[in-house]
Amino acid sequence: MNIVPDIQPQRLAIKLKPSAEKMVMRGHPWIFENSIIKQNTQGSAGDLAIIYSAKKNTILAIGLYDPYSPIRIKLIQFRKTAQINDHWFHHKIREAYTIREPLLKTETNSYRLLFGENDQMPGCIADVYDTVLVIKLYSHIWFPYLNWIIPHLIKESNCKTVVMRLSRALQTTGETFGIKDGKVIYGNLENDVVVFKEHGVLFSANVIKGHKTGYFLDHRHNRKRVGDLSSGKTVLDVFSYAGGFSVHALAGGAKEVISLDISKQALEMAKKNASLNKHKGNHQIMVADAFDGLQELRNHKKKFDIVVIDPPSFAKRESEIEKAKHSYARLARLGVQLVKKEGILVLASCSSRVLAETFFEICEENISNSGRDFTILEKTYHDTDHPITFPEGAYLKCGYYQLV
Ligand code: SAH
Repeated sequence: MNIVPDIQPQRLAIKLKPSAEKMVMRGHPWIFENSIIKQNTQGSAGDLAIIYSAKKNTILAIGLYDPYSPIRIKLIQFRKTAQINDHWFHHKIREAYTIREPLLKTETNSYRLLFGENDQMPGCIADVYDTVLVIKLYSHIWFPYLNWIIPHLIKESNCKTVVMRLSRALQTTGETFGIKDGKVIYGNLENDVVVFKEHGVLFSANVIKGHKTGYFLDHRHNRKRVGDLSSGKTVLDVFSYAGGFSVHALAGGAKEVISLDISKQALEMAKKNASLNKHKGNHQIMVADAFDGLQELRNHKKKFDIVVIDPPSFAKRESEIEKAKHSYARLARLGVQLVKKEGILVLASCSSRVLAETFFEICEENISNSGRDFTILEKTYHDTDHPITFPEGAYLKCGYYQLV
């Protein structure tokens, strides 16, 4: 398959500072530019970076060179050497597919087939929505290998269409070899909005313009859990985006659901997604800033059996961590006030910089301070198609609190 012109990556010989060497030995996939002490020649995007031990000269790992990022080398092969060729990618993609295969037996045809570093393919995401494969690249390192990678992804997933998505950084810097954000590189895309199934519930995602690849697959198990809890209940879904939790709640028999989001467009999608499924519940949308909206509902003395609060990442930078913690605390405090007696508050965070332990502590402290007793029903993390293999890869956590 000729998706990009033939690009011949060169081999670079690299040696690292002892501290970085230790991280590599532990299997950490990132090498920052200031950890490199020796490099035989100048590198281009996607060059094979062979990491030699500084003392013994043996091969420790193989990575791909990224001149555009402070994470200068992203590792793909650890401990032993390997030929990075068509066969190597076949093996990796087959391995990744095998991890996801059980999900396909759960009336689900949407899954993350490649999750970057966690599948030893840093900065490369591949999500499947029914027969549409959406590949999102966050690094230039992948262009020399796409002609190998994409046919294997198509074969494993059985997809008929492939859409390329590029991160903002890729859209603005460096060579992308004719690939643009939203380009259909294989098959036809009849409609930008693709319908797919998640635990038997229908959804749709705009794979060209939607956030990330169009949808947030990582919460699948939490949405199912909320759906299972929702029969005959009233549910508030805050930061609902395209209605992930709302639609599962309605399909699960909720009597009333309010989807709250600042984006009217996202809420229109939520309405559409709800209508794809048979349900009897009343579905309302509320366009508002979450903090104002929660306060407004409180002023109207509204209460719900289930309140789900799943905000966007509040700490994209180190400097935002404290503010993020403060926001999580505020949301927990506001949320508690809207939950009926014996109702459930579901609080989630997708900020990798706020560790799970810290997040749960914030939630529990703020619920306690409200004066209500609670039991922790469950704490969950990523779904199985998001296997986590290094600390910074973990971002999602979700707590279920039943309030007395
Ligand atoms: N819960 C969703 C994913 C949430 S994504 C799911 O299960 O799929 C985050 C959402 O938060 C986006 O839709 C964005 O529009 C919304 N958002 C961001 N800032 C907001 C704010 N201040 N108030 C309300 N919504 C906000």
